Amino acid sequence: MSWNTFATVAETVKELDDKKVSAVELATHYLDRADALQPVLNAYVTLDREKTLAEAKVADEKRAAGDAAPLLGVPIAHKDIYLIDGWRTTCGSKMLENFVAPYTSTVVKNMTAAGMVTLGKLNMDEFAMGSSNETSYFGPVKNPWDLSRVPGGSSGGSAASVAAGLTPASTGTDTGGSIRQPAMFCNLTGLKPTYGVCSRFGIIAFASSLDQAGPFAQTAEDCALLLSAMAGFDTNDATSLDRPKENYSRDLAKPLTGLRIGLPKEFFGEGVAPGIAKAVDEALAVYRKLGAITVEVSLPNVKYSVPAYYVVAPAEASSNLSRFDGVRYGHRAAEYTDLMDMYKRSRAEGFGAEVKRRILIGTYVLSHGYYDAYYLQAGKLRRLIAEDFKRAYEVCDVVMGPTAPETAFQFGSKSDDPVKMYLNDIFTICANLTGQPAMSHPCGVDENGQHVGMQIIGNYLDEARMLNVAHQFQLATDWHKRHPNI
Ligand code: GLN
Repeated sequence: MSWNTFATVAETVKELDDKKVSAVELATHYLDRADALQPVLNAYVTLDREKTLAEAKVADEKRAAGDAAPLLGVPIAHKDIYLIDGWRTTCGSKMLENFVAPYTSTVVKNMTAAGMVTLGKLNMDEFAMGSSNETSYFGPVKNPWDLSRVPGGSSGGSAASVAAGLTPASTGTDTGGSIRQPAMFCNLTGLKPTYGVCSRFGIIAFASSLDQAGPFAQTAEDCALLLSAMAGFDTNDATSLDRPKENYSRDLAKPLTGLRIGLPKEFFGEGVAPGIAKAVDEALAVYRKLGAITVEVSLPNVKYSVPAYYVVAPAEASSNLSRFDGVRYGHRAAEYTDLMDMYKRSRAEGFGAEVKRRILIGTYVLSHGYYDAYYLQAGKLRRLIAEDFKRAYEVCDVVMGPTAPETAFQFGSKSDDPVKMYLNDIFTICANLTGQPAMSHPCGVDENGQHVGMQIIGNYLDEARMLNVAHQFQLATDWHKRHPNI
């Protein structure tokens, strides 16, 4: 069988429907390619051929029996933060190096119910903390476009695997930009839904009030298919939104005539690399040609996003990661004197430097006497930022700007300076603080040939419209059709 490894999810569904390919053939193709490129890209943490082929076989049998699940037999790879019963789930950490999940996350369950076949577990920054995939205990993931550059983070494996044609699609999670920024660095489309649209049950928690699951794919059309499968109310997650299932593909074909695009002046300032500013401007010209109009808006409080995030996220992380104590989960030190010593040694050995930094910051900002000064203030800033967006949506339908201030950077260029690394998320973090949906789609290249992403931030629950907007852009452009030579 010869298979176009860059076929989209939509194309794959069609080939399966037309009986041109079977689920087992697809799984075999992508597993072979994943094996071949693992030494080059390090995109996966775990592959389990037997499990995957067994799932694919079931998918083929179901199809033969007339099952009409929408994505029956389509392969998908999951960020190694999603629990899947019987699969090792490491979260990119030494702490969970040998942890085998005892149950399956709701999102993976939903995707399996839609017929998708699990290809494996993807590499990521340790506990999803990072913007470059350099904090993974399993080593960095390489950017398939340029092996000397990072793929973005924390969902670096999720992005590199789709970009390199190791899988038609993947899942990621986004706490401060971890879907959108790697999507930009690897020339993909990635979406972080409204907080509460995808269940967090069975996804290892980083910062519970910010974490959201979402898809990576080549196109907005694919993201719509994937999100339709992933999303849905779940009684196991108290923050899950109790609302009917949506078909996120329903508005894809709508023309953009009259669409009002809000351009926040805060997203177009000095901090943006000139090559990015140019690509974004040219993409906006395409949008205008498609009938959209652009209006300037202001989000005066977004400048507080990074500081507010680096209080809230570490605070919640310090609490969430306290469960890794060497008793209930994960790594336990081989030698210790008493219980307290065992906790200390297990955690000292099991966590990497970035995770320890976050736990220290988080414990500090939550400690007696500092809570009011930091955590409480950060909560107020979240509200102010949300109010800025509310005002903006009085005059526009979507907000747009660059996804990140810089394109994919060289390994090691930021790892000594955490603040430099944190600033990579300067445009993405606001949507996590407010809970709004946001996505990134390919929109050009800079002077070094590195990819630029356009971020679309939508109003709450406006995913179908955002996907429509990105899809119409993709019908008019070819940026998303570029693939690395690998
Ligand atoms: N880069 C950000 C951080 O390190 C965001 C990570 C994420 O979205 N998971 O916290």
